Amino acid sequence: MPLGQKVVVIGGGHNGLITAFYLAKGGFKPLVLESRDVVGGGAVTEEFHPGFHASTLAHTLGPLRADVARDLQVEKFDCQIFQPDPRVFSPSPDGRALLFYSDVAKTAGAIARISAKDGEKYAQFAGALEEVAAIFAQLCLITPPAIDKPTTEDLWNLFKTGRGVRGLGKKRIFDLLRWGPMAVADYVAEFFETELIRATIAARGIFGTALGPWSAGSTAVLLLRAAADANPVGTAAF
Ligand SMILES: Cc1cc2nc3c(=O)[nH]c(=O)nc-3n(C[C@H](O)[C@H](O)[C@H](O)COP(=O)(O)OP(=O)(O)OC[C@H]3O[C@@H](n4cnc5c(N)ncnc54)[C@H](O)[C@@H]3O)c2cc1C
Repeated sequence: MPLGQKVVVIGGGHNGLITAFYLAKGGFKPLVLESRDVVGGGAVTEEFHPGFHASTLAHTLGPLRADVARDLQVEKFDCQIFQPDPRVFSPSPDGRALLFYSDVAKTAGAIARISAKDGEKYAQFAGALEEVAAIFAQLCLITPPAIDKPTTEDLWNLFKTGRGVRGLGKKRIFDLLRWGPMAVADYVAEFFETELIRATIAARGIFGTALGPWSAGSTAVLLLRAAADANPVGTAAF
């Protein structure tokens, strides 16, 4: 498509708006058509009472890619992103509760008070997740290849992905092949004995989907989300 060409984007949700932003940055002339009188789609902020604004649909942000936030200069436009730490509070009916922090060692220490074995496993789990999430993160950044006529860039990306996968080592490559199609309940049970920890981590595999913890492929959802934030419980930004 020649530069300077007009591009019509139908729908001013966050995906339409960000697409229009990058099109404009790339030298095109985007025109966003929105049927409502406010833009934002599911990420809209509305006045629900004079002077009071809130997000009226989506309640948390993200995961928002850091490079996209940087390109958009969100902070410059008076958009403050809050990243609470602890990220997640997990209460249980028996009165025990857990806090999950950004810091893996701190969380592992809190978990160890409930189960020493799970405390140790938490650090291992976080490490394994970080390793495989890096592969998914790289895949999420590239343009899908032209299968019939791959370009030089497609081949280069394929090479980089292959090299990344190979770098995981035999055991982790085998894990990756096994984990992807798995039910997330089975995945977390490979690591943890405590139901509260299993449930808190597995939630990320079903959140916002029509899947349950025993659905095949729910681990793939968790791994894809970890591509944007490799912390085991994910992001809780507002
Ligand atoms: C109940 C609920 C809660 C959610 N909570 C969260 C959350 O907490 N965190 C999170 O990250 N995600 C959440 N999501 C998911 C998130 O809202 C969506 O992934 C996101 O809104 C998709 O963005 P989008 O820009 O693709 O589409 P949308 O946000 O759906 O935007 C589409 C836009 O297009 C407009 N439009 C549609 N048709 C036309 C047309 N023919 N002409 C012109 N305009 C049109 C619509 O008015 C709308 O503004 C939630 C979703 C739901 C349903």
